Amino acid sequence: MAKCPVCQAQLKKVDTMVFCENYKPVKNENGEWNNEGNCEFRITFANKVFGTLTPQNIKDMLSNKAVKNKKGDTIELDLSSQYFTKITFAKKEVEDF
Ligand SMILES: [Zn+2]
Repeated sequence: MAKCPVCQAQLKKVDTMVFCENYKPVKNENGEWNNEGNCEFRITFANKVFGTLTPQNIKDMLSNKAVKNKKGDTIELDLSSQYFTKITFAKKEVEDF
């Protein structure tokens, strides 16, 4: 079982993301999500920039390991980011055309 890296509470999982038990999004009358908990930590499995993350990938990131995708980009935990992740892109090979 993994603990929240921000507040040390228990992490929970649903089919779309891993999140802190103190992250409690509630939809208001305007259809906007409001966090009624006191921790924002969550990582979604779907990542538009990096690609899909697996639960094991997120476990690795929580143990401070970087996860690599097929393109060679890496993603790691970054608690200073609003997405709680940092993506480093692989260098592209550039040649004269
Ligand atoms: Zn938390």
